[in-house]
Amino acid sequence: MRAMDFELSPKARDHRDRLQEFMEARVYPAEPVYAAWRAENDPHALPPVVEELKAEARERGLWNLFLPDVSGLSNLEYATLAELTGRSPDLAPEAVNCAAPDTGNMEVLHMFGTDEQKERWLRPLLDGEIRSAFAMTEPEVASSDATNITTSIVRDGDEYVINGRKWFITGAADERCKIFIVMGKTDPDGPAHRQQSQVLVPRDAPGVTVVRHLPVFGYQDQHGHSEILFEDVRVPVSNLVAAEGDGFMIAQARLGPGRIHHCMRALGMAERALELMCRRALSREAFGGPLARQGVVREQIAESRMAIEQARLLTLKTAWLIDRHGAKGARTEIAAIKVVVPRIAHQVLDRAIQVHGAAGVSDDTPLAAMYSWVRAMRIFDGPDEVHVRTVARQELRRHEN
Ligand SMILES: Cc1cc2nc3c(=O)[nH]c(=O)nc-3n(C[C@H](O)[C@H](O)[C@H](O)COP(=O)(O)OP(=O)(O)OC[C@H]3O[C@@H](n4cnc5c(N)ncnc54)[C@H](O)[C@@H]3O)c2cc1C
Repeated sequence: MRAMDFELSPKARDHRDRLQEFMEARVYPAEPVYAAWRAENDPHALPPVVEELKAEARERGLWNLFLPDVSGLSNLEYATLAELTGRSPDLAPEAVNCAAPDTGNMEVLHMFGTDEQKERWLRPLLDGEIRSAFAMTEPEVASSDATNITTSIVRDGDEYVINGRKWFITGAADERCKIFIVMGKTDPDGPAHRQQSQVLVPRDAPGVTVVRHLPVFGYQDQHGHSEILFEDVRVPVSNLVAAEGDGFMIAQARLGPGRIHHCMRALGMAERALELMCRRALSREAFGGPLARQGVVREQIAESRMAIEQARLLTLKTAWLIDRHGAKGARTEIAAIKVVVPRIAHQVLDRAIQVHGAAGVSDDTPLAAMYSWVRAMRIFDGPDEVHVRTVARQELRRHEN
């Protein structure tokens, strides 16, 4: 077995340096511009600065970094870059065309799409011309167990007819979102993991209604987390992704890389929080000196640094395993980091907010929004408990006779 080596390759270092420069020169200065524009406009309207950043990132060769077959970067190499983008989560991932849920949807189309599906949907997604959503979760059933999904996909001649209600579908409020990948059941009486299929549903298909956009701790994401009703929606059978019954398998294939990408970005949020915490502690005076002189604050800073380093090492190991053995071979580690990283990022953000006092809960710093996001991360792409179950199962298996 080759030794794990987390030294950055020359290619990754070059990308990191250029991305860092882009973040400092363009992305951080765009944050207040983005926030001010949104404060004055519909929460789901697109601030012009987003497309400006995309154009500039592409020109700089910082584009589609997430997809190894396109970027030539391994998952390990991408980890450092994704972490950097996580420092400005509203702007940087999208600027470099590496934002969820498009990344997962592009991976699905790349892996399973027909030539026609790739031409119609993957190409404009890779070009950043459109956006997309992945519709699996349903309000009426516990969707962390995907076998519960009830949306029906019924074949009728050359078409599929789709009926069901989804919610928390990220991206559906954005006017650029043109395509949904919808998970439903084509064979409700089949074996539990072969009942599901995924179909491509254009957003403007008759029978699709975007009902409302759900807030996360009161925040309305620009792209939206939407409730969507599908009523007798018809799509051609050529819109099926892979084969009937492959829906569960595709969901697994999609969520593996998606989960690690979320973790990489969460590390970036934790790093930025720690940086802000230190700066604040050094500059804010209370009880005769800077906060940074208080032992209790120093301890929180040290605990945060130690926890981030542990979380990063496990994330890098997981990326390394995916590069060698695929997402399936790294299943246990992916489950583990999906629990560990949001938990640690959440703790670090909590401490950073505390050190900032009232400013920490305001929107004068990015801390409160990041805090709400990493808290939600402990639920989306599978709640902690489901991943803990996977880790326990693998651990026990090693000791069974
Ligand atoms: C911000 C955000 C964005 C999202 N984006 C999308 C999206 O784009 N597309 C999409 O399809 N979905 C999306 N989701 C939905 C998300 O993936 C689901 O909420 C998640 O899978 C959990 O499903 P559920 O809400 O139905 O919870 P349930 O399945 O009802 O679970 C509720 C709770 O039960 C507990 N639980 C569940 N299973 C176990 C177990 N085995 N052992 C012990 N306890 C357990 C956990 O504490 C869990 O949180 C998003 C959610 C959020 C918050």
